[in-house]
Amino acid sequence: MDITIFGSGYVGLVTGACLAEVGNHVLCIDVDQSKIDLLNSGGVPIYEPGLDTLIAKNRAAGRLTFSTDAVAGVHHGLFQFIAVGTPPDEDGSADLQYVLAVAKTIGQHLTQYRIIVDKSTVPVGTADRVQQTINDTLAARGMSIEFDVVSNPEFLKEGAAIEDFMRPDRIVIGTDNPRTAELLRALYAPFNRNRDRLVLMDIRSAELTKYAANAMLATKISFMNELSNIAEAVGADIEMVRVGIGSDPRIGYQFIYPGCGYGGSCFPKDVRALARTATGIGYQPQLLQAVEDVNDRQKELLFAKIDQYFNHALTGKTFAIWGLSFKPNTDDMREAASRRLMEQLWQAGAIVRAFDPVATHEARRIYGERPELILMDDPMEALEGADGLIIVTEWSQFRSPDFTAIRVALRTPVLFDGRNLFDYKHVTTAGLTYVSIGRQLHS
Ligand code: NAD
Repeated sequence: MDITIFGSGYVGLVTGACLAEVGNHVLCIDVDQSKIDLLNSGGVPIYEPGLDTLIAKNRAAGRLTFSTDAVAGVHHGLFQFIAVGTPPDEDGSADLQYVLAVAKTIGQHLTQYRIIVDKSTVPVGTADRVQQTINDTLAARGMSIEFDVVSNPEFLKEGAAIEDFMRPDRIVIGTDNPRTAELLRALYAPFNRNRDRLVLMDIRSAELTKYAANAMLATKISFMNELSNIAEAVGADIEMVRVGIGSDPRIGYQFIYPGCGYGGSCFPKDVRALARTATGIGYQPQLLQAVEDVNDRQKELLFAKIDQYFNHALTGKTFAIWGLSFKPNTDDMREAASRRLMEQLWQAGAIVRAFDPVATHEARRIYGERPELILMDDPMEALEGADGLIIVTEWSQFRSPDFTAIRVALRTPVLFDGRNLFDYKHVTTAGLTYVSIGRQLHS
């Protein structure tokens, strides 16, 4: 099948590469010329495990091409995927300007039947707006051409995106048109083989399903973070509590890790956008608001612990940070906990020596060259002369470090662990003070 994808970011590239991998001819369109140039020269603008190999293979086979030519995009695919960003607007609602710009482009150049598949995360009612925008644009051309708008939210996780796309838990399709549903069923058939994972529903429910999923996951995290603060205050250990509650199959072990707050391009913005949808219709989303508030507070926790440990005297101190990306296996730093922490440390007069396996280029892009941020290529070199090590992202390579070597390299032997990676005995027997989340201070 011929497929066009508007937006060559995390979702668009993975979708394009995976759809090409099963034999489709995919044209990926983006407005960012430098991104398209990079892709056309064999580069990949983001870090996602396995993506470079998949793109290279399908480019070589002639099934995956990249362009800024939106007109060619509209002419190419029966399926026109919208996978552009929906960042938060000033009031927290989803900014739909990129989605609607694609809709307008499609309306301006449509010549025959097309299925517009919305993969971006968008508030309920957006499919109607896309439909209206295309109709208005067609009307301005004095034309009437049949098309369908489908909601097909994406549930991939950065860091495991290819696996998630190739073997999805579910494929949500929102459409009122049975014929379109069958065409999408055929498109997704290669990813839907061992049992039927396709969940067909109306468009509004599909749009809401994506927000419901992310809000639920964010709620689990904020719940555990709330509990971790209570545990710490009452002298309990949240890690024991976690194991104790996770053993109940109704609760489960997944996604109940306490930490220094959720970040990324989805949870923060999607919880906020869903809350704005609710307030927009006069409903007070108390739980969603609490999820967001708890997370906001949690993102300040590591700094508060560091500040307290050093008696509010951080000026001139240097801290090593391990982990900049919002989670392991990605270079994405959107709303990452590391950013709030670094900015607070700088505000307090401290310097950061940071290491991340893949995200240092992203940190350089965001913050530029500045004396208070020293980006390191080696985790141990980041420690030299530092007044403490702070772990912000749970990359697997941080899980079994040489604590004695860490203590020797640090100027002040203290480890702040925002992800509770270690048994405190291992850390403290090496002569380090261990400060973690929802547990007592161990020295
Ligand atoms: P991204 O910022 O990585 O990529 C968006 C791309 O769209 C950019 O390259 C941008 O240049 C391009 N773009 C903007 N306007 C365009 C236009 N008019 N025509 C063509 N391209 C255009 O975003 P992302 O992380 O891939 O997210 C895309 C959408 O998918 C969002 O709505 C997001 O919430 C949702 N989503 C993201 C994830 C994730 O893990 N990143 C997972 C599920 C859903």
